[in-house]
Amino acid sequence: MFDQRSESMARESAQPTAVPAAADQGITALTSLLENLEEVAQSETSPRYSADSAHQNRLVQVRLGVASGLFLALRVKHAPTAAHSLRVALACSSWSLRLGLDSSQRDELEVAALLHDIGKIGVPDALLSKPGRLSKEEMAIMNRHRAHSREILSACSASSELLRIVWYAPAWFDGRRPEFDCKGEDLPLGARILSIVDAFDAMTTDHLYRRALSRERAMAELFEHAGTQFDPALVREFHGFFQANHNRLAESVTRRWLHDLMRQPKDDFWRLNHPADQDDVASVHRLFHEQLLDNMHDSVVFLDADLTIRRWNRAIEFLTGIPSTRAENQPWDPAILQVRDENFKLVTAGNCPVIQAIRSGTMASCRLYISDAKQEKVSIDAHITPVVDSEGQVHGATLLLQDASSRISLEERVQTLHERVTQDGLTRVANRAELDRVHKEWVKLHLEKGSPYSMIICDLDHFKKINDTFGHQAGDDALVTFASILKKFCRATDLVARYGGEEFVVLCPDCDNATATVRAEAIREALGARPHPTLDGKCVTASFGVTELQPGDTPETMLRRADRALLQAKDDGRNAVVQLGAGMSEGPLPRSRRRGWLAWLHHDPGQLLLSRKVITAVPLNLAVEKLRGFISDNKAEIIDISESRVTLGIDGKSDLLHRRSTDHPTAFLIELELREIIWDQPAVGESVSVRTVVHVTIRPKRHRDRRRRDSTERARRLLLGLKSYLMAQDYDHLGK
Ligand code: GH3
Ligand code: MG
Ligand code: MG
Repeated sequence: MFDQRSESMARESAQPTAVPAAADQGITALTSLLENLEEVAQSETSPRYSADSAHQNRLVQVRLGVASGLFLALRVKHAPTAAHSLRVALACSSWSLRLGLDSSQRDELEVAALLHDIGKIGVPDALLSKPGRLSKEEMAIMNRHRAHSREILSACSASSELLRIVWYAPAWFDGRRPEFDCKGEDLPLGARILSIVDAFDAMTTDHLYRRALSRERAMAELFEHAGTQFDPALVREFHGFFQANHNRLAESVTRRWLHDLMRQPKDDFWRLNHPADQDDVASVHRLFHEQLLDNMHDSVVFLDADLTIRRWNRAIEFLTGIPSTRAENQPWDPAILQVRDENFKLVTAGNCPVIQAIRSGTMASCRLYISDAKQEKVSIDAHITPVVDSEGQVHGATLLLQDASSRISLEERVQTLHERVTQDGLTRVANRAELDRVHKEWVKLHLEKGSPYSMIICDLDHFKKINDTFGHQAGDDALVTFASILKKFCRATDLVARYGGEEFVVLCPDCDNATATVRAEAIREALGARPHPTLDGKCVTASFGVTELQPGDTPETMLRRADRALLQAKDDGRNAVVQLGAGMSEGPLPRSRRRGWLAWLHHDPGQLLLSRKVITAVPLNLAVEKLRGFISDNKAEIIDISESRVTLGIDGKSDLLHRRSTDHPTAFLIELELREIIWDQPAVGESVSVRTVVHVTIRPKRHRDRRRRDSTERARRLLLGLKSYLMAQDYDHLGK
């Protein structure tokens, strides 16, 4: 632990001692063990049981004999505390060598140091692993471990001096702590030594609630409290010890533990403190078990093969409010604890995991809910271990119940962390990293299974202007609303992600281009119709690119194609959906891919050429009048009319379409949806007025036409004509 050298220790260990080979190995083992102990101390939340545990066990066994079980129980409960105890014991051992304590004093001190924190087996896990400060109440619960330590040790220790060391170690030298009846040099020497080593080790180790201090800083702390908390002469002496050669000290301690102690009886310290059975080793063992069970924080129930409760420890009495006198020797029934499963359904004898484990002889672990003493539901992790003899016969089971609330909160913390890593902080959809990961995986998966996979990429229109006009916060609100609309229109299996800035991507597994286009169109409409309070009630629009995975695609080629479709939608005037098929930056789509959203809706394979919202500064009835003019001048056919929708057919002979003699006549379907709105942003001198928004979509009447570029161009001309009849302008150019 300490790395500086001292003359006195060099002299002391220069004396030749016949060290057997086993002890030589032990020295190496101890060195690595000490490293391991440091590691354990530094990783409080995830104690590691390495190969060094075997050496640790050996050291503990030679020192504690039959009481090793107590130490092992502490290690199972909280490995960092066990590691701390072993470090403190080894340091006390080497310091007492330097102090010249006789060997029986040293024995007592070492054992007391190893077990001074044994009472922590009675402290709730949540407190032992709490990262922050303890509250007053929590501190009171934590401090009960001293009483637990005393109770456990006084039941089985034959050494009153050992008990005095453990009991008085927390006392202050100046007698400040009222619960201790002596002070100063009346305190046992071992207690004063243990108090210093314990504090020094605690200060120089990392804890969940505090980082380790440097050794120099910790030493300064000891000096600061010398005379009040600590024996001042011993603090000065400890400082000398601190400067000493600890490699040599560690070596002599190992020699003592692994060589000298091996030859001595280790159980001198232990006896059953009950006059009737003083020499009965079996009773001593039984007593250890009893003490362990009753001081454990976890609830333990023993059941026999007939499902009769044989043992009901103190922790379960405390948890459930049911005394052992009422539970023991009664048949086990899950109704006693009102056991519920993870779905909160009451467990019956028919599906009780405890009964099943006893019947099948197999271990089981599960999360359950039970009713506590206040009749509140508490979550617990239940571990059921059948007791099976060498012939395989089941004699019953041990049921261990652990409070799961701290684990649940850990699981929740892991979940939160996962969300932080994979989610966009503002919009709560997946972030770019998650998008890249999932997209790569899904491209591979869908190529392998040959099922369709589509992607929608969308970008808010003129978003910069929105920020410039209404401020960044309002822009952020619009992003959040857009993300929520995207999520609302997607299936649970789709992934909605923020690609960056005001661009989002929706990945649609097992979904073809046509279906994804319909979805994109629905999103486009919903967004365009949603007024934003932070944008003075205005709506925003977005443009969409849609594509489907093709054989030979990589994640990048598919994304690039979707991006090209988006650019085309922007070029087409925004507030539009454009789909692209395999490897096509422009031009005709393969026949099978030419399915626009409208076509899909009407089971007609004609592709969507154009989708635009326009606005005219007249009320609905006047807009309809103007539309009538368009219909009659262009000899359009009214194919369908519903509440606010009109579908027109227009043939290729219209002047609007037939400009050049070489133009091939193309017939179109125009769908118009008219909606009257109150325009609250009148121009100067204008009062609040009523206007009409017309959503126009145009597609070819027949899907035979392969000259898509021509068709798009003509559809644009058609829209221009329609706009002039309606005296309308593009909706998304207004008010931004
Ligand atoms: P276009 O229709 O062509 O997409 O035009 P645009 O103005 O939307 O596109 P442009 O790329 O010029 O501007 C994008 C703007 O998005 C610029 C940037 O200020 C804004 N933006 C990006 N990320 C955020 C964000 O997290 N919050 C806000 N409020 N604005 C953002
Ligand atoms: Mg944009
Ligand atoms: Mg952009």
